[in-house]
This record gives sequence, structure tokens and C-alpha cells, in this order.
Amino acid sequence: MQGGRRTKIIATIGPSSSSVRVLTRMIKAGMRVARLNFSHGTHSQHKSLIRHIRSASHKTGEQVAILQDLQGPKIRVGELPDAGIMLKHGEKIVFRTGVDGYKNNEISVTYDEFHKDVKKGNRIFLNDGRLEATVESVRGRRVHARVKIGGLLTSHKGINIPDSKVSTPAFTKKDHEDLLFGLEQDVDWVALSFVTSEEIILKVRRIISAKCRSLGSVPPKIIVKIERREAVDDIVDILSVADGIMLARGDLGIEIPPEEVPIIQKEFVEICRQAGKPVVVATHMLDSMTDSPRATRAEISDVANAVIDHADGVMLSAESAAGSYPDTAVRTMANVIDETEASRLDDINFYQWHNISDLETSLAQSLHIMAENNQIDMIVSSATFPIARYLNIFRPNVPIVLACPNKSVSRQMLLRAGVYGIVAKDAPATFIHRVEGILRKRKLVSKKDRVAYIVATPSGEIQLTIR
Ligand code: PGA
Ligand code: MN
Repeated sequence: MQGGRRTKIIATIGPSSSSVRVLTRMIKAGMRVARLNFSHGTHSQHKSLIRHIRSASHKTGEQVAILQDLQGPKIRVGELPDAGIMLKHGEKIVFRTGVDGYKNNEISVTYDEFHKDVKKGNRIFLNDGRLEATVESVRGRRVHARVKIGGLLTSHKGINIPDSKVSTPAFTKKDHEDLLFGLEQDVDWVALSFVTSEEIILKVRRIISAKCRSLGSVPPKIIVKIERREAVDDIVDILSVADGIMLARGDLGIEIPPEEVPIIQKEFVEICRQAGKPVVVATHMLDSMTDSPRATRAEISDVANAVIDHADGVMLSAESAAGSYPDTAVRTMANVIDETEASRLDDINFYQWHNISDLETSLAQSLHIMAENNQIDMIVSSATFPIARYLNIFRPNVPIVLACPNKSVSRQMLLRAGVYGIVAKDAPATFIHRVEGILRKRKLVSKKDRVAYIVATPSGEIQLTIR
């Protein structure tokens, strides 16, 4: 495990990666988290994807976490003719709420209050911001607009109205139903889309706790997608109640000017690292690989820069869900991560750290220095002692293995950079002996490896053993 890859690869699973065969290749190439996008697909389709992911995980002997991404209040166009409709620059178009399908050249909108939330002069972005129109008038349920940037519009494409305050609830009826389904399927992480405040996170956590109590299962962790201005402004409060953050650059770069996104990425990754919460950089990372076996140099640099920023994970969307090269995209990411992590540029300069007041941070810093000086090859602790949170600040370049009470908890750990879970009891007296046995048996360490064990006893002692 020495020198193993730290940054985790999250890949969205869809039509092009739904088979056990392709999933197996993706896991072998380095996928550690599989994302299911609940903007698409039925429950029975997701159920079969989950079955396939678990069977590929079993086949490869590699743990894979399942992340359920809830659609949230995403506004979409309704059904359009199969070939789509071509919108031309300067053309007048009409959006209509309260109807299904495309009738009388009117584009239906899935969000019923759309006509109430937009005003004359507001911009309407379509299909990830590729198309743009400006509102000219609102008459009843009809929104009249003029096309500013034209192109082909097909069914169910997303709509963004960044100039308007969307009044739709942040957690929809569909999200609730999808979440209950996900909990029954024992997903490991739940992603919330278009979050604007911390209340919604607390509400979802209550729903999760109640349902998992009745199922007797481990509650999944919550990762919050940053894709609205409100979330950017409210990051400190949101992070205080979230278990992790996803920089959802696709929607974020439409809702706010895209040139602000790179700096927000750097700032937020830093905030998360210091708070000890995992952070994922998402969307368009290897976008051209949807149709091409080779990424652009700019995309390669984007992945490398996310690693240098110290993101915990980098994510594939359409590249792995709907593209022609799902496993090649994972392998490309893995190669970039390995090359970048081997450089000095992703290292944290620990000598810059002053004013550490708590023992845990000092301990994590010491372990980091020992790893840097090649004095230890692995750090092992029990998941109940929050050392991963503190080690997160320093990103030591050795694997961190956490002994977890069960498989669900150990899969949740996969979203953290450098962290792997194993299932082992946390009884302090025999901890080192038992865990060493597991690590040796799985050939994760050899006799010559030096491992730092951190054991916290119920009486509050923290023991560091290096052997
Ligand atoms: P999505 O979220 O793929 O569900 O839209 C990610 C993003 O907006 O970047
Ligand atoms: Mn999004």
C-alpha cells in the first residue's frame, strides 16, 4: 500500500457503465466511489445498477462506496420532439408551465412556478448554459423570450435562471421518495443539490436518522453540492452541518459568473481541508472524453490542479455515465493523480503551521512529519477516534487505515483522501495485534513496513505505537 493513490476517483454510473464487465474495469482502473444520478433513471434501473456495482466490487475484492445524488429543485424543459428543436439567434420562443409535452411550439417547463419567478430582462440558460434567452414578457403561464445564443434543445435539458430567486422547495417530493429508496438500498453517501441554507441539510438528516433507525442500518453521510450563489455566501454555516462538500461546477458556473469558480474551488477546498471534511471537485473534468479516448491537455491540467488544491476526490459525470470510454476516463484520471501526487507540489508545507493549540492537530502534524521523513509507512487507528479529521489538514503521503465497526462505515471512509477502512473491533487491549493480523493477511503491509498505531482508550489515554 506504500505510496498508494490518495485522491479518490468518483465516477457517475449510467448507460455506458451499467454492466458488471465495464464496472469491473472501472474499479480496476481506480474508481472508489460510484455515483448514481437521480436526475435520470427509474428506481428499478438504479436497483440493478447497485446490484451490478456490488457484484463488480465483490469480484475485484475492492470496496466501492455508493453515492446517491438527489436531483433537488432542478428546473428542466419537458418532452420535446425526438430530434429536439433548433433555436435560432434572435428568434422569439415561448415557455409554458402547467402542461406536458411540446404543443403549439411552446416549450413546457417542469417547474410550475417558473412564470412567477422570472421577470422581463431575466436571463434563461438552457442545456448547461450552452443556450441563452432573455425574458421579454410574462403573460399568465406563458413566458415569452428571445434567443440570444441558439442551438439544439432536446428533451429534459436543465434550465437555470440565475437572475431570479427560485421559490421551489430545496427538497422536493421526488427527492424524498428517491432518498427513502436509497436508504432501503443502503447507500453510503447522499448528495443534496441546489442547497441554499443549512436548514435543509438538518431536515434531510432527520429523515435519514428516522428511516435508518427503523431499518437498523447505518445512516449515510451527507455531501452538499455547491451550485448556487446562496450556498457560496453561506459556506461556513453549510459546512458546519454537512459531512462533505461537492464543488458542482456545472450548475455553479451558470448561476454565478464562471470566472469566479476556480477561485471558489481553491478557497473551498482549503476550508474543507482545515475543517477535516471531504471535498470533491466535479463536472467537466475530462468532458471531451465523452466522445474521445484522449483528454485535452487543459482537462488533464484541471485534474492535476484539483489534486494540487488537495481535493479529496475528483469526479466524472457524462464521461463515465454516457460516454464511449468510461474505463479509459477513470484510468486517465488515475494516471494524472499518480503523477501529480508524486511531485512536491501537492505536499502541504507543514513548517508553515503555527499556533496549534489542540493535541490532536499536533499528533496529526507529528505523524505527517514522520511520514515525510520516511519513518512510517502507514497510519492505523480506530474510526471512533477522529484522527482522520486531523490528518486531513496535513495529507500525509502514507495510507491511513481506519478500523471500522462494519462495512458501511468503512465504505463511507472512501470519500476521504488517503483513507481506507477495514472492519475490525475497536477493543484497545488487543487492537494492534488484531489489526496487524488483518493487514498482513491482506498483504497491505510487509514485515519491513513500519506502522504507526493510534489507540484511544475509554479512559481518555491516547497511545502512539510505532512498530
Ligand atoms: P449535476 O451536478 O451533474 O447533477 O448537475 C453537478 C454540477 O452541477 O456540476
Ligand atoms: Mn448540478
